[in-house]
Amino acid sequence: MSRLFSGIQPSGELTIGNYLGAIRNWVSLLDQYSSIFCIVDLHAQTIQYEPQEMQDRILAAMAANMAAGLDPDRCIIFVQSHVVEHTELTWYLNTVTPMGDLGRMTQFKEKSQQHKENINVGLFSYPVLQSADILLYKADKVPVGEDQVQHIELSREVARRFNSRYGDVFPEPEALLSPTPRLMGLDGKNKMSKSMNNYIGLVEEPESIRKKLAGAMTDENRKRRTDPGNPDICNIFTLHKSFSSDEEVGMVDTECRRAGIGCVDCKKMLADNMLVELDPIRERYHDLQKDPDRLRHILQKGADQARPIAEETIREVRKAMGLR
Ligand code: SF4
Repeated sequence: MSRLFSGIQPSGELTIGNYLGAIRNWVSLLDQYSSIFCIVDLHAQTIQYEPQEMQDRILAAMAANMAAGLDPDRCIIFVQSHVVEHTELTWYLNTVTPMGDLGRMTQFKEKSQQHKENINVGLFSYPVLQSADILLYKADKVPVGEDQVQHIELSREVARRFNSRYGDVFPEPEALLSPTPRLMGLDGKNKMSKSMNNYIGLVEEPESIRKKLAGAMTDENRKRRTDPGNPDICNIFTLHKSFSSDEEVGMVDTECRRAGIGCVDCKKMLADNMLVELDPIRERYHDLQKDPDRLRHILQKGADQARPIAEETIREVRKAMGLR
């Protein structure tokens, strides 16, 4: 079975954008790949954070991903800093990565703009740590959204440089593009994100979700109920495609164009369908959060499964590089 690797940000509350763009896809891939998921606490250190909140963030990420279907009996899930080989391999890979390659990374440029007061070396070499995460497990596939493709290309380049300098150790990982493009926010103008406050949380309370959807932007040319609408430019329709049946999507498509359905009813139908999927996730999330020891135990077991793979690769790397 080919191996798949992906990182999970311990970034607090997840949005339905994270769910549709990443987690739902990962869950669908569990039977096709030997899958490894890593909660990337070391990556999270590259922007300023409150140390006393980190463990809660890790457990919340674990609970949300498990609640959404990432079953630890069918994959390995662990915390990055629990397998120290990630940092060791990062150092080795730093020595074969030109600074120019890192300076070109779009994410580095964007984050440097967002965090002008804290442009640290970790932020700069973030993609090297990401390469180490992937190469440590000799992963074949890395499921990502469009915005991460550049980093996977860099990982391939890093693997090539290492192999050509020290001998064939690493396979070149391939990006596995998420079938769901990045979701627009409820303002209909910007990508869905917490910083834009235009999002629906994965484990948000039903009443709050209904309220947010009721106020969400639709086809702005549709001023009155009797005006025909254009679902192709309406974000509510995009969300229907992710949460409603094919039949309902077809109905909305037709009825919107002939003003047969109003936006209020269309949004209500979406909220009902969304909650059918999100209600059990929210309930499982709260159940899991009640038992942090269980989550810690699963993460420890995950690290115990990941470590021997990482140690084996590091032995090979040290030997290839003339270290013992
Ligand atoms: Fe959008 Fe639905 Fe209104 Fe059409 S009816 S504009 S798809 S919210």
